[in-house]
Amino acid sequence: MAIRRLPEEIVNRIAAGEVVERPASVVKELVENSIDAGARTIEIVTAAGGVALIRVSDDGSGMEAEDLGLAVERHATSKLDIVGPNAGLDDIRTLGFRGEALAAIGAAGRLCLASRSKDAAEGWEITVDGGRVAPLRPTGLSRGTRVEVRDLFFATPARLKFLKSERAEAAAITDVVKRLAMAHPEIRFSLAGDDRASLDYPAVGGAGARLARIGQAIGDDFRSDSLAIEARREGVELSGYAGLPTVGRANGLQQYFFVNGRPVRDKQLTGALRAAYADVMKRDRHPVAALFLALDPALVDVNVHPAKAEVRFRDPGLVRGLIVGAIRQALAASGPRAPRAAAGATVSAI
Ligand code: ADP
Ligand code: MG
Repeated sequence: MAIRRLPEEIVNRIAAGEVVERPASVVKELVENSIDAGARTIEIVTAAGGVALIRVSDDGSGMEAEDLGLAVERHATSKLDIVGPNAGLDDIRTLGFRGEALAAIGAAGRLCLASRSKDAAEGWEITVDGGRVAPLRPTGLSRGTRVEVRDLFFATPARLKFLKSERAEAAAITDVVKRLAMAHPEIRFSLAGDDRASLDYPAVGGAGARLARIGQAIGDDFRSDSLAIEARREGVELSGYAGLPTVGRANGLQQYFFVNGRPVRDKQLTGALRAAYADVMKRDRHPVAALFLALDPALVDVNVHPAKAEVRFRDPGLVRGLIVGAIRQALAASGPRAPRAAAGATVSAI
């Protein structure tokens, strides 16, 4: 059989399946781009669980007209040094760098990318429809970027079959936004649409910013029903808040972990959390926590997979020990303490 190079359009669709698993992964990629662009405000609108519409608008740096075409090309990024002294993959400070998200989204749905950079006289937009790129045209826009995705997966219908209900997809989007918002209290986030209850987190600053944002995202009660965690071991820093044992939940959905500022989901980390509470919480209850790990980027790989948020630590035992030790110590120091919230919550106690 003759060997042929796949046309770009097909390559993009195959890649799209890896980067864009569901509407929430599109939201993650777009919001990360806005964060990387230095946005102070990020507004997100969705319809039909993100399948009919995802719109992310930011007031970040924007893009020059001539960069819009490149932005939607595969493997085109402004975030990786490929020539300078820091060239390579070892010094990544941005959330993105693979340069494939916009291309993948444009291959799977109908993408309209509109942007206006600081000094530009006007905004420009480019559309990519199932992989077909249309010419640039001027558009009205203030500084920043607006990305609109309609009919997600119309060009890759196999993906549509794997989606959950509109409600479940909308909830997954909310979760992604909450996690990113918790890592960036200095940015205002809003999320709205017919398919959801809307949220709006004003930017918060100063010393209490992190706890204020966690309160916005998890609920105000958590601010008083949690203990501050602060610990350090061999260059790994742990900080954040762990809920009182009396406010356990029926599932682990309210467990948030961040590694070097990125939201991650990781079985080792949730396992460490469970171990920390083993003596003070019933087995069918789950602690609430928002924990932030900071360590030398060389000691952790947070990009094991583009769409999944797994992490690989050089020394997993060290991280586990740090989490378990710090939380147990904080719990022991706090002694028995009733939650400030409704008395009913104490039913789940010890
Ligand atoms: P990556 O983020 O990995 O670089 P993407 O496909 O997500 O790849 O984006 C490609 C490029 O488009 C980015 O490197 C960036 O230069 C530009 N870009 C994307 N979104 C925005 C945005 N919201 N504001 C400014 N520039 C953006
Ligand atoms: Mg990106």
